[in-house]
Amino acid sequence: MAEPSVFERIVAGEIPSTKVFENERVLGIRDIAPKAPVHLLLFPKTGEYANVAELAAGDPALLADIVAIAQQLADEHCGGQYRLVFNTGADAGQTVFHVHAHVLGGGLTEASL
Ligand code: 5GP
Repeated sequence: MAEPSVFERIVAGEIPSTKVFENERVLGIRDIAPKAPVHLLLFPKTGEYANVAELAAGDPALLADIVAIAQQLADEHCGGQYRLVFNTGADAGQTVFHVHAHVLGGGLTEASL
């Protein structure tokens, strides 16, 4: 068995987080090291998908839910305008191999992720 990801440990309550969204299948939290005035993370509670391509192939409805929730959170936190980023692969900056969306907004610069 692989070690649980940091996001699985957050879902289990083993690591504290600031939650901004939760339903049966998805958790939304504030990023611990924000790269923009609004920097939220959205991920499935299950750790079975390492990246967005795996999620799209394995459970496209869950990916669509995450996109819809991202819009809802952006409406609440940054006027509905945002950047949605799924880093995919270590060379692209992915450090947690449990699929997650970065929702960035509130005044972005070119350097934001
Ligand atoms: P990645 O680099 O894999 O695309 O994104 C992982 C993100 O998770 C990073 O932006 C990083 O700051 C965030 N992160 C890593 N560990 C924790 C944590 O324990 N709590 C929170 N809230 N965010 C974390």
